[in-house]
Amino acid sequence: MKPFRFCPACGADLELADDEGGAHCPNCERKWYRNMSPTAGAAILRDGRALVTVRAIEPEKGRIDVPGGFLRTGEDPVAGLRREVREELGWDIEVDDRDYLQAVPHTYGSEDEWVLALGFVARAPQGDPTPADDVAEVRWVSESELDGLDFAWPHDRDLIRRALEHGRS
Ligand SMILES: [Zn+2]
Repeated sequence: MKPFRFCPACGADLELADDEGGAHCPNCERKWYRNMSPTAGAAILRDGRALVTVRAIEPEKGRIDVPGGFLRTGEDPVAGLRREVREELGWDIEVDDRDYLQAVPHTYGSEDEWVLALGFVARAPQGDPTPADDVAEVRWVSESELDGLDFAWPHDRDLIRRALEHGRS
């Protein structure tokens, strides 16, 4: 992850970041931190299987993913997860904050930005999803298929395994 070079408030050159990751502006005296961006994703279950998506866009185009995405500033993670799944699949999933399973820091994209991926287990609604343009394909997979799938981020395999073991399908 590249450090900030210029002050986002006044445009002055920043001093180098300190041990805590904060870069001080000698002009306006503010201090700027690079933090991880939170995402929320879900292992959506039905009848003992989980839904995975094939990514239609970069980064990691063509690889396996779970539904979800970046949270907005100040957004509740479960509300953000529901919003992302509605946008991606046209579905209102059943999920609440007791369905939280894991939090995994990882890098994302060509700039290696740091992301904190929050993982949940969720129940699918009735009917089939209607995927948006950023989804190439949806598949229902069982536990025995997980090792053979090309996950863009391996922690999503762990999330699905944990969700299926969790058994709240
Ligand atoms: Zn400044």
